[in-house]
Amino acid sequence: RLRDLADRRNSVIITDENVFRLHQLRFKGWNTIALKPGEAYKVQATVDNVIEQLLEIGADRSWTLIGAGGGVVTDIAGYVASVYLRGIRVGLVPTTLLAMVDAAIGGKNGVNHGGLKNMVGTIRQPGFILFDHSFLKTLPDEQWRNGFAEIIKHAAVLNAAMFRKLEQYDTTFYRKHPKDLAQLVSLNVLLKMKVVMADEKEAGMRRLLNFGHTLGHALEAQYELAHGEAISIGMAFAASASNRVNGFSQETRLISLLLQYGLPVHAEFEHERIVEAMLRDKKKTKDQVHLVLLEKIGRGVVSPVAIKELQSFFT
Ligand code: NAD
Repeated sequence: RLRDLADRRNSVIITDENVFRLHQLRFKGWNTIALKPGEAYKVQATVDNVIEQLLEIGADRSWTLIGAGGGVVTDIAGYVASVYLRGIRVGLVPTTLLAMVDAAIGGKNGVNHGGLKNMVGTIRQPGFILFDHSFLKTLPDEQWRNGFAEIIKHAAVLNAAMFRKLEQYDTTFYRKHPKDLAQLVSLNVLLKMKVVMADEKEAGMRRLLNFGHTLGHALEAQYELAHGEAISIGMAFAASASNRVNGFSQETRLISLLLQYGLPVHAEFEHERIVEAMLRDKKKTKDQVHLVLLEKIGRGVVSPVAIKELQSFFT
């Protein structure tokens, strides 16, 4: 299928060493750049390095860059493609559950800077996204949990019916039933696409997708936590904040679902340090942060919260 979408002679695949090692045959005959895996390499130095290699290969404006990997790879590929030669075509092949349901959708890309998440980047839609669920056969348990964190996020803020469905099953079920998994992935893709099409530049509705992310990103940047784990703890925090701010009464249901999918809902951390990191978040104004809260399961709302009030949530 990839050959129908891009010409091997003027395409380069960016992947990471894990995906390359586990799926080597699929890369045969394609120009490939394999990055060191992990969030620590989602930085400008990696981008510069990829640009050097593209120049060495002789990639010009007619070339296609293909990001085949998890969210780190798809974010870097999207970013490089949007700045290299002022922009070349990009296609994405997400290989983690998280990248399939979230990172590869919506055109946001970029890298971290100075310990802060996604501080540099662009919003630019890919030319194509190719879903190949067979990549998931090699996905480690931890990455399944990460993916389900974002799926639960979509359900919590956008879709009560999906939330109820998730309550009936667990990760083991979805791993054993590829058709149900494929349906779940495409439902999530459609949900996110709908939001992005209504609000690509995140002026309104798209902000709902940051549910759990203000605290989550702060935790992820400061501690050794996987993205999904950090977001899960962030969602549990946002549910409790929703209870305080607008009387949200279904906190227990959200917590139970997160636990059912093997996700953490609590962490010990230095409050001051984390509040400080939350305040450096891109989404804050002078004396307010915009938190995504829940009115009820399936309905998220963006609420301005005074910084003083935010600090009181941690005491
Ligand atoms: P990742 O790319 O680091 O992948 C996680 C791990 O899984 C890596 O070690 C990778 O090598 C490995 N892996 C990938 N595919 C595999 C496969 N098929 N089999 C075995 N191992 C495989 O991280 P991720 O969890 O996919 O994505 C997280 C990143 O996505 C974060 O940087 C986050 O900021 C970003 N993100 C971006 C958006 C967006 O809208 N752009 C949305 C959500 C998350």
